[in-house]
Amino acid sequence: MAIAICPGSFDPITNGHLNIIERTAKLFDEVIVLVLKNPTKVPLFTDEERVDMIRSCTRYLPNVKVDAYSGLLADYAHQVKADALVKGLRAVTDFEYEFQMSLINKKLNPLLETMFLNTDSEYMYLSSSIVKQVGEGGGSIADFVPAAVREQIEKRIKENI
Ligand code: ADP
Repeated sequence: MAIAICPGSFDPITNGHLNIIERTAKLFDEVIVLVLKNPTKVPLFTDEERVDMIRSCTRYLPNVKVDAYSGLLADYAHQVKADALVKGLRAVTDFEYEFQMSLINKKLNPLLETMFLNTDSEYMYLSSSIVKQVGEGGGSIADFVPAAVREQIEKRIKENI
């Protein structure tokens, strides 16, 4: 059974993430969407909230599971016997960081491959941070995230004001 992990901070999940998850689910028997703690970012949503949002948005994909982890991704991949990490690439700016991460993960876990899927062009501009920025500025985020996620972002932004 081929297992892939789609790792990220997903703070929150966007239509761009969902596109990569859907495409990965067609290529692998099982996909684990993994919420990782990123110490360099202050999150808008807790790990549990992010996991819940991803679960509700991926319910229609039967081979997709969602989990959270605070240790090394290479160790988690070893524990669940994953074959590959699948990451989305938006632009050349993503590449340098992702290339470095893939090399370090290979060093830590030599059996683990990293695969990249190009973003679909309609999601090229989309990131969780840009969605939060637009939402905080009062703009419409309806085209960027699933409806349930939009409601949660709008609610959290109001709470934070
Ligand atoms: P960000 O905070 O940059 O939105 P994450 O750390 O949550 O991203 O990203 C998880 C993975 O999803 C990364 O591989 C990232 O490149 C990918 N990703 C994020 N947004 C998109 C998008 N719009 N299209 C394709 N891949 C994306």
